[in-house]
Amino acid sequence: MICSDEGKVISALELLTLIQSWPREYGGKRDKDLYCKDFLSVESMASKTPVGFIGLGNMGNPMAKNLIKHGYPLILYDIFPEACKDFKDGEQVVSSPADVAERADRIITMLPTSSNALEVYTGPKGILKKVKKGSLLIDSSTIDPAVSKELAKDVEKMGAVLMDSPVSGGVGAARAGNLTFMVGGPEQEFAAAKELLACMGSNVVYCGGVGTGQAAKICNNMLLAITMIGTAETMNLGIRLGLDPKLLAKILNMSSGRCWASDTYNPVPGVMDGVPSANNYQGGFGTMLMAKDLGLAQESATSTKSPVFLGGLSHQIYRMMCAKGYAQKDFSSVFQFLREEESL
Ligand code: NAD
Repeated sequence: MICSDEGKVISALELLTLIQSWPREYGGKRDKDLYCKDFLSVESMASKTPVGFIGLGNMGNPMAKNLIKHGYPLILYDIFPEACKDFKDGEQVVSSPADVAERADRIITMLPTSSNALEVYTGPKGILKKVKKGSLLIDSSTIDPAVSKELAKDVEKMGAVLMDSPVSGGVGAARAGNLTFMVGGPEQEFAAAKELLACMGSNVVYCGGVGTGQAAKICNNMLLAITMIGTAETMNLGIRLGLDPKLLAKILNMSSGRCWASDTYNPVPGVMDGVPSANNYQGGFGTMLMAKDLGLAQESATSTKSPVFLGGLSHQIYRMMCAKGYAQKDFSSVFQFLREEESL
């Protein structure tokens, strides 16, 4: 039995309609948290309200599809219209971030860089032009933590909330719905963010105030770059010494050299199926994006006076790869880069 404020017995569907007619901010708390804590299944009993999704590239595309699988209707936008072509049946594709904000009060963004995020949130047709009071904005792009903090302040001025929520796991995990989300922002908003993020990931971790999700992500990617370069150098050396690459990978993966780059995302063509090295380094995580993340790590290291010798060297290697035509290839193409370098 469900009772309204006046003590009248109402159906779950009537309760949902009532909730949707209330402003999202109610008495300083999010309406659903305040009134629906005893009726958590109510929303799943009726249709879900639309969620905005901006940035439908390598990661955003499969993430959005997982939200659809969980029953969320989407309002979509990408600056490159071709990116939305998979979605046209049944989902609404609109023509600016502001149009998304007009139609949805929960929005996820998945964009390449800090400048793209600034454009999408604060640009002339940005989300903030039409954002509704009480909206929850979740930025899953990997960007500068300082930019996340700046955006959060602008969003707060409009009566909405921004949480940074970068991801780890790559395109395979985005497809499988088992990404890891590192979430920063007001703790009381975490449950509302998790409701959506759990449809796309198996780990949703609260890190602290806004920007801390980005901090965790930048640290992870610096280590990933270092281990990928190390794996590529090791595999190349072993091959030059006459070892079969599959056998060498097998030995590494049962020994102390094992890491994600060796056992899940091996950079040598022919060692594993279903990874970018098996597909001429197409798809996956672009070298340009890795160089960007290492640049963010470098800036953070400078501002916190942290020594990052190997992180700095990895940054230089990935920047050089971009200059030599690898920018759009997956970052595991560092193996191919090493092979070409040594033949000079
Ligand atoms: P991507 O380049 O494949 O996709 C980004 C999408 O954003 C593109 O479709 C692009 O057209 C769109 N876009 C760019 N500017 C826009 C704008 N102003 N308005 C609307 N749309 C815009 O990038 P990706 O690989 O999906 O990565 C997205 C983010 O996730 C990056 O920050 C990246 O560092 C991070 N990330 C990527 C991976 C990976 O394996 N690819 C893994 C973890 C994290």
